[in-house]
Amino acid sequence: MNVYDSARMSDVLRPLGYQPVDTPDAADMIILNTCHIRDRAAEKVFSELGRLRKIKEARETAGQPTIIAVAGCVAQAEGQEILARAPYVDIVLGPQTYHRLPEMVARAARAGGAVIETDFPAEQKFDFLPDTAAPQTPGNLTAFLTIQEGCDKFCSFCVVPYTRGAEVSRSVISVLAEARRMVESGVQDISLLGQNVNAYHGTGPDGEVWDLARLAYALAAIPGLNRIRYATSHPRDMDDALIAAHRDLPELMPYLHLPVQSGSDKILRAMNRGHTADDYREIVRKLHAARPDLALSSDFIVGHPGETDEDFEATMQLVRDVTFAQAYSFKYSQRPGTPAAGAPLQVPEDVKDARLQALQALLREQQDAFNQSLVGQTVPVLFTSEGRKPGQISGRSPWLQPVHVTGSPDLIGREVPVRITERLTNSLNGILEEEKVYA
Ligand code: SAH
Ligand code: SF4
Repeated sequence: MNVYDSARMSDVLRPLGYQPVDTPDAADMIILNTCHIRDRAAEKVFSELGRLRKIKEARETAGQPTIIAVAGCVAQAEGQEILARAPYVDIVLGPQTYHRLPEMVARAARAGGAVIETDFPAEQKFDFLPDTAAPQTPGNLTAFLTIQEGCDKFCSFCVVPYTRGAEVSRSVISVLAEARRMVESGVQDISLLGQNVNAYHGTGPDGEVWDLARLAYALAAIPGLNRIRYATSHPRDMDDALIAAHRDLPELMPYLHLPVQSGSDKILRAMNRGHTADDYREIVRKLHAARPDLALSSDFIVGHPGETDEDFEATMQLVRDVTFAQAYSFKYSQRPGTPAAGAPLQVPEDVKDARLQALQALLREQQDAFNQSLVGQTVPVLFTSEGRKPGQISGRSPWLQPVHVTGSPDLIGREVPVRITERLTNSLNGILEEEKVYA
């Protein structure tokens, strides 16, 4: 989501004459787009700011004024602290205000004092952003498209409802228009983004509220949009209509990120997730019935307050039962202002470490096994770039694995059947099946 937001920030700054440069030393303005989800992400911001301060000072000594801005969720949550700890920062802006960036830049340049914008404005920023295609790099075949933001679910551990604000969906017309612009600029594989992307409920052109399933059918009808993904979805919003869309739409990729966090019903309840471990197993069963080649990825937290060895074992058991093609796992991190941060029974750091290691070893085994299961199979690969080795081209499979083959760069931009021959640590090697081309 931050990658997408950064691209939109460059869009709003372009009319002012700004364009991206490769190194911070060459920049008249440096924007740090930040994440607040775990403690370490927030700490990184302050160490990065220390580095940027030196660049700003060196440039200003040479007579080149330099604006430093901090955007994103750390700005939203810790705006005042940033200004106190890093007074050389010129602009602090939350994730819902970046459409106002040009005005803030003008104010910072004029006043020479810090400008801070972390209120949640009444207007939706998407209505005020310029209509640009916004693929992250021109010529890209893959792109992110934010369709929904914010969250009303208030999980015990999570800062998102406080930093990104309440759940808001963009209108169907604006999503379809942006997707069409992306496809016209060459994008074939779009990842729809949202904190709870499957809670999408945008106003349709017919005045009705559309859900993600309905939006997916409309997107799949755009010629040239061959691959559609979405993240992150919440198990509670994985309804039958969306599962049916996975059965009906070959464009919906058979790879779904569906965070579960824990396999213990007690911990799921404490987390306020609103479902049980068996509910999750049942959703996965339905998804596989709808789309047998669907593979899952997930997020896990170990060491949420109250998590015992038995609760952790329930998580391990869920992983064994479901099996994941890929996953992210984290040690629980206390976030100020969230209910779990002040909860009793915090889990000691060394216990969290041991649990994380055990979980990650199991997840790694499953990831390797999934990748190995593709060896010998033929899968459609969308080629996106030349490979690292001469004569090679690289692309991605429906399950987002990087795939390398020996082949002509003319195939870049096409989806071609590839027989997988070898599993590497985080990618696959293959050979081109004859000249039959899918799309
Ligand atoms: N909306 C998504 C998650 C968004 S946050 C969902 O509900 O699934 C991305 C991931 O960060 C979460 O899935 C969770 O695994 C992790 N995370 C969030 N807050 C955390 C915290 N306080 N400590 C550790 N991990 C956390
Ligand atoms: Fe955070 Fe996701 Fe829970 Fe919302 S649903 S509070 S974003 S973990």
